[in-house]
Formats: sequence, structure tokens, C-alpha cells
Amino acid sequence: MGRSSKDKRDVYYRRAKEEGWRARSAYKLLQINDDFNIFEGVTRVVDLCAAPGSWSQVLAQKLRGESGQKSEAKIVAVDLQAMAPIPGVIQIQGDITKKSTAHAIIGHFEGEQADLVVCDGAPDVTGLHDIDEYIQAQLLLAALNITTHVLKKSGTFVAKIFRGKDVTLLYAQLKIFFSLVTVFKPRSSRNSSIEAFVVCQGYSPPEGYVPNMSNPLLDQQYDVNFNNLEGPNRVIVPFLACGDLSGFDSDMTYPLELEAGKNTYSYLEPTQSPINPPYKEACELRKSDMLSKPLGSHVVKAKLIGSQHN
Ligand code: SAM
Repeated sequence: MGRSSKDKRDVYYRRAKEEGWRARSAYKLLQINDDFNIFEGVTRVVDLCAAPGSWSQVLAQKLRGESGQKSEAKIVAVDLQAMAPIPGVIQIQGDITKKSTAHAIIGHFEGEQADLVVCDGAPDVTGLHDIDEYIQAQLLLAALNITTHVLKKSGTFVAKIFRGKDVTLLYAQLKIFFSLVTVFKPRSSRNSSIEAFVVCQGYSPPEGYVPNMSNPLLDQQYDVNFNNLEGPNRVIVPFLACGDLSGFDSDMTYPLELEAGKNTYSYLEPTQSPINPPYKEACELRKSDMLSKPLGSHVVKAKLIGSQHN
């Protein structure tokens, strides 16, 4: 009962085992192809985040035939994890966010370009949705960076995407590089999951765009000096200093205005103080003289209060 319960629950899991696919994900790529015909005319392809290898199996079968020898189609698969060999598939064990991995992929293409790049990358899920979505978005952008190095003009890029709350920013970024971007949810992708796939067709980077692996969010050691970027690699947004230039300058000190007929200044309380500020406890300690002053460079130390800290 225990061992077969997943078979009962998940028809794609069961069918994958029956049909010899290493993972149920194989059906996602097959279903993407059913609708978008992404394998047509493809002889060079990169499979990013490929382990355990069901997408590479699909690619090998569709492009090189059952024997893996029907054609000389080049398939390069990359993953952090080692994966069992697949006939006709070149494997690279590496991190797709690293420049060295991009170079290793490019090395296998010997100056030629890919017709198709696919990426089923998924981080180890933390269960904290915002973080999972953020890391997934970074993986997708890393995959896009690699793609800009190897994909031929008019080529296709397919990648897993989490349809989280900020996903429209990713769509906009992809639209800069592809004439047609479609979001596709294969039937084999669980309805309960925010996972979907972007099918980006018609690769056409902006005129003058120079591929690079820079992603400041991933790599604090920027490999490009952003101020030296030129042309479409550099985006300059207009700066507008707004307001009345003769109005108050918030960096200046002005004399306090005295009330008419008085020579003292009347202080007004703030309109509404915060009702539960994070510094509330420190204020209360200070009122009862329980907060000691900083000594030299030492941080403020609260005197230990009552039995709680004894
Ligand atoms: N498409 C695969 C298949 O059909 O067998 C399944 C891919 S699995 C859902 C996601 C993969 O992404 C994992 O094998 C994981 O190691 C890989 N991955 C996650 N982050 C990666 C990274 N930075 N570089 C390379 N691979 C990564």
C-alpha cells in the first residue's frame, strides 16, 4: 500500500517509470513541444539544470533518435549534481550562475550557436515563498545570461518560472531579448504549484548588446564596471530635480520662528507618534534610569532588570 500510494496519486510519476523517463518532468517538456514545436530544425541545444536527466532523455530521443545515433545533434546538459550518462548527451557538472560554467558550455559549441536553450532549474525549496520565488528568479536570470552567450538569433529559450507576485518584471526583462514570450502551464505541472514555463521565441537582443554574466544580485564581486557599460547594456534614466528651487532646503539650518510678541519658541508635539515603536522598551528603561549610557565605543547596555535576567 505505502509504496504504491504515490503511483495512485500521480499518474505522471507512474507513467514515467513505465516509459523509462528518469523523472515525471519529461512530460512537461513533451507537452511544451506538443504546443510550440520547439524541437523543429534543432541540431544544437543546451539543457540547464538537467539532473536527474529526463529532459536530456527527451532531447536525445527527439533529436538523435531512440539509438542516440540518428543524427549528430549536439546536446549539452549542465547541473550542480552529477547525473548518470545518457548516450549522445555531453555533461557538465557546474553552477549555472557562474561565469566558468558559461565558458565551459561555450567551449563545447566551438564557436557555433545553439538553436534552443531549456532550463528546468529549481532551487532547494525553503518553504518561505518570497525567498523561493526570489532564488528561482535569479536562476532564470542566470539561465538568460548564459543563453545570451550561446543562442543564435531567432532561437528559442524555455525556462521554468514561478508565477509569484513580481513575475511581471521578469516577463518585461525577457521581452527585451525575445520577440514573443508566452507563459505555458503543461497539464503535467501540478495545479497547486505556482510553477509554469516561459517559452521565449525569436531571440533578438537589443542592437549592440554585449553578452555578459553580470548579475549584481548574485555576485557582489561585479565582473563589469557598471559605470563603463555602453549602448544598450547601460540604461540611463532621466533625473528630475523637482519642486520650487527657492523653497526650503532640507540640508540647511533655519532660525526658529518666534511667536508674535514673544521671545520664546513654542515647541509642538508631533501630530501622531508611533504607537508601538521598536525603541519603546529602551525609552521606558531610560525614563526609569535603567539604561546605561554608551562608554566610549561600547554599545548601549541595559542594566539587568528584575528576576527575569538574574
Ligand atoms: N529537468 C530535470 C529532469 O527532467 O530530470 C529536472 C530538474 S530539477 C527540477 C532541478 C535541478 O536544478 C536540480 O537537479 C538542481 O541540482 C538544479 N540546479 C539548481 N540550482 C542550480 C544551479 N545554480 N546550477 C546548476 N543546476 C542547478
